[in-house]
Amino acid sequence: MKYSSTRGKGAEIDSAEAIIRGLADDGGLFVPEEIPAVDEAFLASLQQLSYEEQAARILGLFLTDYTKEEIRGCVDRAYGHRKFDTERRAPVRTFEDVSVLELWHGPTSAFKDMALQLLPQLMSTALKKTGETEEVLILVATSGDTGKAALEGFRDVPQIRIMVFYPEGGVSRIQQLQMLTQEGKNVNVTAVKGNFDDAQSGVKKIFGDAEFSQKLAGYGVRLSSANSINWGRLVPQIVYYFSAYTELVKAGKIQSGDSVNFSVPTGNFGDILAGFYAKCMGLPIHKLICASNANNVLTDFLRTGVYDRNRDFHKTITPSMDILISSNLERLLYHITGDAFRTAGWMRDLQLQGRYDIGAELLKKIQQTFWADWVSDEETKELIHRVFQSKHYIPDTHTAVAWNVAEKYHQSTGDDRAMVIVSTASPYKFNGSVLEALGETTAGMDEFQLLETLQDKNDAPIPEGLASLRAKPVLHHGVCRREEMEQAVLAFIRS
Ligand SMILES: *Cc1c(COP(=O)(O)O)cnc(C)c1O
Repeated sequence: MKYSSTRGKGAEIDSAEAIIRGLADDGGLFVPEEIPAVDEAFLASLQQLSYEEQAARILGLFLTDYTKEEIRGCVDRAYGHRKFDTERRAPVRTFEDVSVLELWHGPTSAFKDMALQLLPQLMSTALKKTGETEEVLILVATSGDTGKAALEGFRDVPQIRIMVFYPEGGVSRIQQLQMLTQEGKNVNVTAVKGNFDDAQSGVKKIFGDAEFSQKLAGYGVRLSSANSINWGRLVPQIVYYFSAYTELVKAGKIQSGDSVNFSVPTGNFGDILAGFYAKCMGLPIHKLICASNANNVLTDFLRTGVYDRNRDFHKTITPSMDILISSNLERLLYHITGDAFRTAGWMRDLQLQGRYDIGAELLKKIQQTFWADWVSDEETKELIHRVFQSKHYIPDTHTAVAWNVAEKYHQSTGDDRAMVIVSTASPYKFNGSVLEALGETTAGMDEFQLLETLQDKNDAPIPEGLASLRAKPVLHHGVCRREEMEQAVLAFIRS
C-alpha cells in the first residue's frame, strides 16, 4: 500500500518512508491511498487473539512494506516487557449503561502511550529497511504529557535520539518530575525560559532552519518529529477500536455484528480519526461522538461546516484538549472528498484567515458518522462526582468530558446502542481537579499528598510510574533561553 499527501499528488511512497518523514514536503499529511476492508470472518478471528496479536493483524493491513516478522517485533517491543500494568493492554470496564475503554495502562498513565510506545519501533525498523545510515534526532516541544510519553517510547531505541523542550514552570510538578527523572542513553530534557509557545516556536524554527539542518548533517544527524500528525502515531490507535469491540462481544454486551458508538475526548482529532479508519475498514461503528471542552471549535465545525479558530482560548481542567487547531482533521477532509486540491485550499484558508467552510453537502456526509457537543469545567466535575457516587468509579477529567457528552447524545437522539467511553488518562494524572470534583479541599497539598488522598477513595492503585517518582534521582538539569535552543541541540549531539 502506498501513501500520498493530503494536499497534492506528490510521489507515492511506502509507509516506512512516510513514518520517517512525518510530514509531506507540501505541508500535507500522509494518507493511505485506500483504506483496507475487513469482513466478518476477520472480526471473528480477532476474538481469540491477544492485544499484540490483534495489533499485528491490523497494522499488517496498512504497513504492507513491513514483513510480518518486523511488525510482530515492533509490537512486542512496544507492548510487551511489562511496560503495561494490565494483561489486556486496553481493558474495557463494563457498567450497566456504558463501557469504558481504558487507554492509560502504559508507562506514563495516559493514552499517548498506545501510539508513542509503537511509533519509535516502527521508525527504527523503517530506518533499517530503507538503508538510512544517519541518526535521527526527534525534537519535541511539550506542554506536559507528550514529552514524557515520547521519552519513554524512544529511550534506548537504536539510531534515534530524543530531545524534549518544556516551558520552565509551565508544566505540573508531576509532569516535570516525570521528565527530569527519565532514564536512557539517548535522551535529553531541557527547560526553556518562557511559556509553551516559546518552546514550540523555538522547535518550529529549528525545523525550518536549512542552515542548521546542514550543520546537523555534518554530524550525520537528521531531524524528525513525534507529533500526532505522523502516520506512525495514528495507525497504532486503530487497533484499540477493534480490541474494544471484541471485548464487548466477549462480555456479552453486544452480539458480533451489532453496531456501537464511541465517545472520544478530542483535541488534535487523532484519537477519533483512528475510529473513523476503523469504521471505514468495516468495524460496526454507528456514531463517533466528538467531545470537547470550552475550546469547542470542533463542535461548531461538526454542526455548521465552518471551522473558525478566531476565538478566545480557554484554559480548562482538561489541558490535553485545549487546542484550537486540530491538525488531523485534514485527513478526514481528504478521505471524505478524495480531493487533495480542495483540502489544500481549506488549509490555505485556515492559515490565511483562520477559518474555512466546507459547505452543507459535505457537512451532511460527515454528520452521518460524527456527532459533537462540548461541556464546561463545572459539568465535567459534576459528572466525576456523580459517577463516583453511583458506580464507585473515578474517571479522569478528559474521560469525564466524553462521558458527559455521551449522555447528551443519548438524551438528544434516544439512540441506545452500546456506548463506549474512550478513557484517555488515569485519574491520578489529573489528581487535583479530580479531588476537587469529589469535594475534597486540596489547598497546600503537594503532588504526592494529592496522589495519596486520591488513593484513599479509588479502588485502583497509584500507577507505578507515578508512585516511584518520589524516590527517583533527577538526571536532567539543562535550562536555556529561547535563543539558545539550537546551541542546546548541538551540545546534545556532540555529547
Ligand atoms: C492527547 C489527549 C487527548 C486528545 O487526543 P487527540 O488525539 O489529540 O484528539 C485527550 N485526552 C488526553 C488525556 C490526552 O493526552
